[in-house]
Amino acid sequence: MSRPQVFVTRRIPAPALAILEEACDCRVWEYEEELCPPEVLAREMARVHGLLTMATDRIDPAWIAAAPRLRVIANMAVGYDNIPVQAATEHGVLVTNTPGVLDETTADLAFALMLAAARRLYEGQRTIVEGRWKGWYPSFLTGQDVHSATLGIVGAGRIGRAVARRARGFDMRILYHNRRRRPDLEAEVGAEYRSLDDLLRESDFVMVLVPLTPETRGMFGAREFSLMKPTAVFVNVSRGPVVDEAALYDALVTGKIWAAALDVFSEEPVRPDHPLLSLPNVTATPHIGSASVATRLRMATLAAENLVAALTGRRPPTPVNPEVLDRPEWQGEGSQG
Ligand code: NAP
Repeated sequence: MSRPQVFVTRRIPAPALAILEEACDCRVWEYEEELCPPEVLAREMARVHGLLTMATDRIDPAWIAAAPRLRVIANMAVGYDNIPVQAATEHGVLVTNTPGVLDETTADLAFALMLAAARRLYEGQRTIVEGRWKGWYPSFLTGQDVHSATLGIVGAGRIGRAVARRARGFDMRILYHNRRRRPDLEAEVGAEYRSLDDLLRESDFVMVLVPLTPETRGMFGAREFSLMKPTAVFVNVSRGPVVDEAALYDALVTGKIWAAALDVFSEEPVRPDHPLLSLPNVTATPHIGSASVATRLRMATLAAENLVAALTGRRPPTPVNPEVLDRPEWQGEGSQG
């Protein structure tokens, strides 16, 4: 039997590529910093059995319909809002993601952003390098205390739990809002459940960690910012479209909230002249939540394992739409179609 054909949309760490190459014939988009163009992606999808994607690859449902051999899309991210899962399921295409392996690394970044915004680290560095540090006075670059403050986590899942554990070390009071209560989190870190509105009213720091879904798109708009404290710091490490950026800008310039820290934006890469980036009370990072060397290796390895398992008739470790595996074409041994 011929080997499965696979396309990888970006260079990945060598040990992960080796896992793919042992079982499959791989083609890799070679330009590390350049997004694989949509036409190349569509063309490759029409040819291959397996696709390994990044969160930045937007997959068009029409490309799935036009991909007769495609069996699996392995996304190297925990979020999968870039993949049309429903279309994939309808066409019997398995989708996998990489949950769990990036929780601690992403929580580190989320916590770093919270501290940076609260203590005005970005403004501090700019003050030094622009020659504006002239002396010391009591109100010089004063920020908000993180220790002993109230942290509200919206979307307290795997990463939220890792953030909450860090917050305990800072003696923070922890509130959370999910659609369902989590007694395990309440027992482990003493987190208290709140409705979204109550969480926004009570929190000094609002940390967003929900997945991007039709329900969470635009979840934070003018109404939500108006409920928050004027001293509140808003931190988004989930996905940009969860936030109405124009409303956030307005909330920051009118003093409805105090500062924001953002790892994600509605459009990425965000344009350097985006209005939010002109504000001194915005701390920004370029979607680097999971960006540590070790975690990127773990993510690539898990994505490769998912992909190879799916193409060799084994159950992948982390499927997003496992119902596909019950379909007759997934039942027999082997899996090239
Ligand atoms: P997770 O374990 O699935 O946690 C997500 C939480 O959000 C769940 O507890 C879920 O609880 C809650 N939720 C979902 N829909 C909700 C809604 N409509 N209202 C309120 N709560 C809702 O996911 P995770 O692994 O922690 O990852 C979370 C997200 O972080 C990912 O989807 C991804 O978009 C983002 N992320 C970003 C980076 C980065 O580099 N910036 C890195 C990793 C992940 P219920 O189901 O009970 O509502």
